Amino acid sequence: MYSGGQVSVLAFCYSRAFLNGGGMEYLIIWLLFAGLAAYFSSVKGRSSVGWFFIGALLGPLALVALWIVPSLRFDDTQSRNIASRFGVYAKYRKCPYCAEVVLKEAVKCKHCQSELEPAE
Ligand SMILES: [Zn+2]
Repeated sequence: MYSGGQVSVLAFCYSRAFLNGGGMEYLIIWLLFAGLAAYFSSVKGRSSVGWFFIGALLGPLALVALWIVPSLRFDDTQSRNIASRFGVYAKYRKCPYCAEVVLKEAVKCKHCQSELEPAE
């Protein structure tokens, strides 16, 4: 999404601001963005350590990037909902005996202990 050039320009700007300016305020802002990126990434089910560094490097741009990337956790919940509505979706399927959503590979329902046909 960002070229190496853009990243190094940003890193340069940050380090310049750091050396020239008040120092402490920039450090706080820098940590704030890193912390926010780490927090929002964990909410979205992504690596918070990785996003901490991306937040530290890109600042507000990392938050924009995080907002754009699809949430892994949301996708999973959505897959389960679709599976419970239509029978099979992604890695989930609905148990024909108790109507709970189980993993597609499961041969035994974890909810009602029924034997399930192996997935095709
Ligand atoms: Zn079941």
